[in-house]
Amino acid sequence: MTAIITRIAPSPTGYLHFGLARTALFSYLFTRKAGGEFILRIEDTDAVRNKPEYEADIFEELAWLGLNADHRFRQSEHRARHTECLRILIEKNLAYESEEPAKDDPSKIARVVRLKNPGETVVFTDLIRGEISFDTTELGDFVIARSIDDPLYHLAVVVDDEDENVTHIIRGEDHISNTPRHILLQRALGFRTPAYAHIPLILMSDRSKMSKRKHESSVKHYREQGILPEALINYLALLGWNPGGEREFYTLSELVEIFDLSRVQKGGAVFDEVKLFSVNQHWMRTLSVDDFIIRGNLVAHDAEKLRQIVPLLKERAHTFAEARAMLSDELACLFTVPAIDRNLLLAKELSDRPGMTKAALESLSEALKSLPEGVSSEIAKEALMPLADAEEAKGKGGRGAVLWPLRYALSGQERSPDPFTLVSILGPREALSRAQKAVGILEG
Ligand code: GLU
Repeated sequence: MTAIITRIAPSPTGYLHFGLARTALFSYLFTRKAGGEFILRIEDTDAVRNKPEYEADIFEELAWLGLNADHRFRQSEHRARHTECLRILIEKNLAYESEEPAKDDPSKIARVVRLKNPGETVVFTDLIRGEISFDTTELGDFVIARSIDDPLYHLAVVVDDEDENVTHIIRGEDHISNTPRHILLQRALGFRTPAYAHIPLILMSDRSKMSKRKHESSVKHYREQGILPEALINYLALLGWNPGGEREFYTLSELVEIFDLSRVQKGGAVFDEVKLFSVNQHWMRTLSVDDFIIRGNLVAHDAEKLRQIVPLLKERAHTFAEARAMLSDELACLFTVPAIDRNLLLAKELSDRPGMTKAALESLSEALKSLPEGVSSEIAKEALMPLADAEEAKGKGGRGAVLWPLRYALSGQERSPDPFTLVSILGPREALSRAQKAVGILEG
């Protein structure tokens, strides 16, 4: 039995996008499960659109995802071999040079190379889509090189797949119409035909094709937002493939164990960012407090307080970008004393009961004095909630008449965690000082 060898062949003409990341993942899973080899080949023959920063990004994102290749090649390293194959085809009268107006500049004449198309019906069995039959007459004598030393993708990919002993080509469905051309070239050159598996495209929610160029469909974009690689792997694996059953969360090595090309779906797979974020939240929640801080790049001048806040961030944030924004926005009050607006503080005061907010803050202050440092939010709630319940029993004002001024006095914000959580993170002493400051503002 020949060893399984797969490859991915990204062109460095943009940041690594979702489609390619998923192709890489499926190839990786298929290969690792079979104990084969996984090749990364940079298709850098398009000198005009290639950029070193894009190539660097492909390496960086694949390493970040943990999809490490066993071998790396650059297509441009094989130029001489491509030209040799073109010459062989011309010598055997299976291809010919043809003088034509150059595509990019019709005022110039180019000597392109065209394959003599025998015009057969090409049939191949796709591992996902089954038997596919293509009448190739309509392709005519298609161009395989811009000149004898400037091969096009079709020629280069066929030669490289042969020379690298690739046994299985897993790639996006957008390449399905290229496959008959590749098979014609393999036959002309006397090469094997590898097995093909064309995987469904990733679609946007309106079922349009996901763009390869937009920054929002790049892996880099999601890495910058603080998506964890384990979450992206988990999400991408289930985009167009399912292992059966209800289970939603898998690690990369678990996926290697169970991956099976026959369960790849034929129809397009719709990208759902909300789902990706919820998968990410799951993986964020599995991290220890220290890992959460380190991997999330979270910084705060009070390291201990930051550790205390992690459970709150785990509860609320779906990405680390969101967690960082919370720290500098709605949770900033946990690190610095907020400014208090008198009118907002009085927002729940009833016009027929002047002074009720101040009275509430004073009795809350008394209750805070009885709480020990390090108190949990549950115990803080047990101590403070009866005051709110008593207010509710009086009617009209409701619990909010007590809880609002407390929460606002502690946070200085209209949106924040609940007051008991604030008391537990700030500590009752700091909470008391903020409550008294609020009383001072009402007296002033
Ligand atoms: N360079 C092609 C792409 O980025 C891949 C071609 C192939 O897999 O054969 O889509």
